[in-house]
Amino acid sequence: MNRRKLSKIVFKISRYIGFNKLCYLLNKGRKRILMYHNIIPDEYFDDSINLEYSISESRFKNQIDFIEKRFKFGLDLENPNEVTITFDDGYQNQYSIGSKILDNKNIKGYFFCSESLINNDRILLIDKIQLWFDYVPYRLYKIDRLNLSFNISNREERKQSWSKVQDLIFNNKSSMEEVELSLNEAYPFNKIEVNKEFYKLRFNSIKESDINQMKDKGHKVGAHSSMHNILSNMNIKKLDKDIKRCVQNVGGIYNTDVFCYPFGTHDDVSDEVIDIVKSNKFKMGLASINSPNDKREYSKDFIPRIDISSIDDKYHIDFILSGARYLIRNKKLLPPI
Ligand SMILES: [Zn+2]
Repeated sequence: MNRRKLSKIVFKISRYIGFNKLCYLLNKGRKRILMYHNIIPDEYFDDSINLEYSISESRFKNQIDFIEKRFKFGLDLENPNEVTITFDDGYQNQYSIGSKILDNKNIKGYFFCSESLINNDRILLIDKIQLWFDYVPYRLYKIDRLNLSFNISNREERKQSWSKVQDLIFNNKSSMEEVELSLNEAYPFNKIEVNKEFYKLRFNSIKESDINQMKDKGHKVGAHSSMHNILSNMNIKKLDKDIKRCVQNVGGIYNTDVFCYPFGTHDDVSDEVIDIVKSNKFKMGLASINSPNDKREYSKDFIPRIDISSIDDKYHIDFILSGARYLIRNKKLLPPI
């Protein structure tokens, strides 16, 4: 029996012997905040790198239907009896698909939009770089400037090449701007072909008029930095400028003073980053993870979130939301805020 099948059986057993129930009880006071990115129509949903953290429309609807049986949904980030739904980045699909699904069910959610995307027909730099690896034609690319060469001739090699570049970016060995420039020399971005309808949903940003409609429906629209850089890699001056651009829009474009860190792991969010976000009057900060870490406890300034976007199996979702997976992996209850 393979691992996948075995796990499926474990999730089912955990539910039927009452282990999930026990975990729900133990985690009664613990808040669950779900993190989503893009919601993509099933017809376009495949294993492209740019859909890594995304979810198909049908899976999202199924997840909501399932979770609704146990939890209420709501916006109160400190109320453990409500599950809160959040979306990161600010792309068109989050408005035209995500918010509409929630509206049909009268569920309110948080939409964290990068300030630089709003009213600008641009794409986040990290997504532009990722897109290059998804769609450049198959061939050998020698990129002297980065001291790398990519022999791209199948999907697997696209992913491997992307992860080499990710290593440069996340370990601060090359800036995203430098990578963008080098890739453009190897194969120009403006020659890359992507299905127009898909591109619009996945890479066009939410417009201010869409944001206003979302706010009218009762959703919260919050800041996700301006440029979506790795904040811990930025110098203080630039970081402060980026956060100030966001805080200036609280009460305007943004109707919440909850901040959502881009990338959002312990490595991407240093104590210095938290201090600057706080000193700019943001009341809470959302992380992108909930795993235990020695570096920092979770708090209102670094609130854990759960990612179930890749999961179809209801028993698996129940296993995660109950805290059973967390307890088995970490010998701990879900982290408190
Ligand atoms: Zn993001």
